[in-house]
Amino acid sequence: MKNLTIDGKRLWDSLREMARIGATEKGGNCRLALTDLDRESRELFVRWAEEAGCTTGFDAMGNLFARRPGRDPDMAPVMTGSHLDSQPTGGKFDGAYGVLAGLEVLRSLNDHGIETDAPVEVVVWTNEEGSRFAPAMIGSGAFAGVFDLDYAQGRSDADGVTIGAELDRIGYKGEGCGDRPVGAYFEAHIEQGPILEAEEKTIGVVTGAQGQRWYEVTLTGQEAHAGPTPMARRKDAVVGASQLVQAINKIGHDFQPDACTTVGMLQVHPNSRNVIPGSVWLTVDLRHPDDARLAEMDRAFRQAAEAAAEGAGLTVVIEEIWHFGATPFDETCVAAVRAGAERYGHSHRDIVSGAGHDAVYMARVAPTGMIFVPCEDGISHNEIENATPEHLTAGCEVLMHAIVETAGGR
Ligand SMILES: [Zn+2]
Repeated sequence: MKNLTIDGKRLWDSLREMARIGATEKGGNCRLALTDLDRESRELFVRWAEEAGCTTGFDAMGNLFARRPGRDPDMAPVMTGSHLDSQPTGGKFDGAYGVLAGLEVLRSLNDHGIETDAPVEVVVWTNEEGSRFAPAMIGSGAFAGVFDLDYAQGRSDADGVTIGAELDRIGYKGEGCGDRPVGAYFEAHIEQGPILEAEEKTIGVVTGAQGQRWYEVTLTGQEAHAGPTPMARRKDAVVGASQLVQAINKIGHDFQPDACTTVGMLQVHPNSRNVIPGSVWLTVDLRHPDDARLAEMDRAFRQAAEAAAEGAGLTVVIEEIWHFGATPFDETCVAAVRAGAERYGHSHRDIVSGAGHDAVYMARVAPTGMIFVPCEDGISHNEIENATPEHLTAGCEVLMHAIVETAGGR
């Protein structure tokens, strides 16, 4: 089959029209999950999907599905999509691009009169951002069985209003969750990082998502007067902590490519200018796409903590509070994305997702792949988030290829 075109202008216009719902003064979007604005964005999506000949439905988490039938109704659908909720000061492309690129594929399949063996579905996941309701990605997480339905529907916002109550209120609480078969899942998304732009690549072939390990560390020495206490007798917790911070940063550099290490929070006790610090509490965030390498980073970090404590005469306690395994995407799906970029002549590179996405949960229940396109200066979760029509069109072409290839288009 020759390369199928998509209508880049129609995609761009749809993105602009969607972005009017919850538009902010600075050119971004505030469309928090399950608000009236969220309902409005869903209604617009449903209208467009039905105009494209799809049937629509939603599940008990309000995950919204638009289905274009295939020749074989018994085949599990090839699914694509993302989310329409945003951060309070979010951008126009995070999430909305993946949903509307999926819709553009369906519209273009109609234009070309292409039938697929498997049905194709575009999904809008509920509460991906986790901004109004924690945790993030709860719609796709419930679908993938990561969260119980009761737990997920019972999450509440700052005012104590639950997801379940808001789904009822806006009319998007259906039946069941996660009982739909999925043959494969693809998600197009802006990169939300600077790599593609810096390397002048149009397409990121996402090979998987990083594993993450989070720790809380307490270094304990002894408080003492900053004047009378000789240097040799000190047990200064900040001295040990500063060595540990340097060591953790070095681990990030030592495990390139792909490693990330961060100490994001530090609390000094008693935090007084003329008292030698008695204890420091700090957080550590280690990330790597390969679990074995991440385990090596864990060992290096523990050794560094022991060494830093010993050097400053401190004791150290490390508590690991969260461990999220690395998620490699499906080889066949990744290959379909790469082949799509090749076919359309778009420059590309393999890339690992540093952020969470609905695709990361979907990878637990279906063969999954993702497509990244560059965003300006790598900035996202910000009203100034921007992407070019050319890059968005290119990503949609690659999505088209991956879907048609996987769903058996003729
Ligand atoms: Zn997103």
